[in-house]
Amino acid sequence: RQAAFRTDLSVLLDQIGTGKESLSFMKRRIRRLSQQWALAAYHLDAKLESRWRDQKKILVHVGFLTEESGDVFSPKVLKGGPLGEMVQWADILTALHVLGHNLKISMSVKELQGLFTLQVFIFYIFLCNSIWPLCVCRCHIRVIDTFGTEPAYNHEEYATLHGYRTNWGYWTLNSRQYMTMFPHTPDNSFMGFVSEELNETEKRSIQQNKVNNMAVVYGKEASMWKGKEGFLQILNRYMEVHGTVYYETQRPPEVPAFVKNHGLLPQHELQQLLRKAKLFIGFGFPYEGPAPLEAIANGCVFLQPKFNPPHSSLNHEFFRGKPTSREVSSQHPYAEQYIGRPHVMTVDYNNSVEFDSAIREIMRTKVEPFLPYEYTCEGMLERVHAYIQHQGFAAGSRTTGPLFVALSNTTALGWSPSVAAPPVWPPLSSLRLLVSQEGQSCVEACQSSGFTCEPAHFRFINNKEALLEVQCEVVDSEINHILPAFSVLRQECGLQREPLLFSCAGHSPKFRRLCPCRDFRPGQVALCTDCL
Ligand code: UDP
Repeated sequence: RQAAFRTDLSVLLDQIGTGKESLSFMKRRIRRLSQQWALAAYHLDAKLESRWRDQKKILVHVGFLTEESGDVFSPKVLKGGPLGEMVQWADILTALHVLGHNLKISMSVKELQGLFTLQVFIFYIFLCNSIWPLCVCRCHIRVIDTFGTEPAYNHEEYATLHGYRTNWGYWTLNSRQYMTMFPHTPDNSFMGFVSEELNETEKRSIQQNKVNNMAVVYGKEASMWKGKEGFLQILNRYMEVHGTVYYETQRPPEVPAFVKNHGLLPQHELQQLLRKAKLFIGFGFPYEGPAPLEAIANGCVFLQPKFNPPHSSLNHEFFRGKPTSREVSSQHPYAEQYIGRPHVMTVDYNNSVEFDSAIREIMRTKVEPFLPYEYTCEGMLERVHAYIQHQGFAAGSRTTGPLFVALSNTTALGWSPSVAAPPVWPPLSSLRLLVSQEGQSCVEACQSSGFTCEPAHFRFINNKEALLEVQCEVVDSEINHILPAFSVLRQECGLQREPLLFSCAGHSPKFRRLCPCRDFRPGQVALCTDCL
């Protein structure tokens, strides 16, 4: 069946159910953004020029909200606990509904057991090893995974043998089946979420009503303010400081008396506060949440600390045990790298002169509200549409056979995999072969040339022909996540034997890597020019 865009969200709202703060939060968000979604559906429909889109049966299992996993989220919704995940889950559900798919939502293991045999795609929200639905083909699973899982940590046997085993990951999926909150490593698929969009009238009125000396502090839990008194005092020399910190009856001791604390605000009230403020300031935690994008979209400058040395699973408690070796260069690397000045300033907070002058500069600069296209409703719909129509992970992808098996011929009773292999996606025309420096990963190598690493293209460059210009004494084929790569010194070349270990993130000091890079659409790093 053909999928038709939906603009009425009432069926979705009914499906989500009631009885938990987390569900109410998600529903409030869906209602608040419903017009924005409808407009985006209209635009994307026109852009795709009524081309055929398969309607898929999709089961979304919200693992972390189930009683079986302990549901640590719901009780904290009104108490300053993490909301980023709920923002993303609400937006994924909405995108799938708006794209016109046949959606089932499960919020408990019992429901899941009753449902999953019928489905094609499964968006399995958050990792939960105990209820791995074994009888579902792994290729149908998509895991919503905030911070990402790199290939070395994903491959169970390899992770166990080489010290990459953590509490998460090791599902031995194709790494692109993990979908992240930000485009962390291209080894995973970037899922994202959306932020509020403003029309021209709203943008103008925001700019007229900006209060140049008003700052809002990023951090809704008192613990995030601990030890920040010095910075807050400097800030208070120039600006009126506002906070949205949860409290029960009294001001938390971490929040100085000069701060105007509004308590945790409903999302729409936070947006109103951000519309007036000039500065949104982070003190290092939480990492990589949605709030800075919302602030920038409402015309604030986001000021954040640079991390030197970068934070990672090797040196920071928060990342310890997470299935990634990513080095986090600031509180919000996406804001730093993809947005930057004048909307984002990343400075060394240990240098009080630098900190001080950043605040003064922010008070002087005029900025316009800005939202990257990939975080608009249309951008998210476009990306999720492309994944659903084009991405496939057949079991055969472990061998060199065709990687794609059509999953589209669904019937009411299940699906019949087609034997014909559809065209390669992303299309091969997007491939650019590059060689990294020693010690450099393909993420960095591609980025430094204005491209992004495309793990789906590794299989086309994992061969002797690609190494043609390299002097190799030996060409070995091994199981190692830094391959394909070569050592200049030893004149050794290595090809990858395990396709699941193709990794953009991998690097090694003595090796130069062969990197499959590709171009991307402006403001939409997940999609190449010909990917739609
Ligand atoms: N938020 C809110 N009220 C507040 C502060 C934040 O509703 O007083 C929302 C905010 O709009 C954002 C979400 O909380 O969408 C997540 O914020 P954050 O960036 O702090 O990420 P988290 O650590 O919660 O994942």
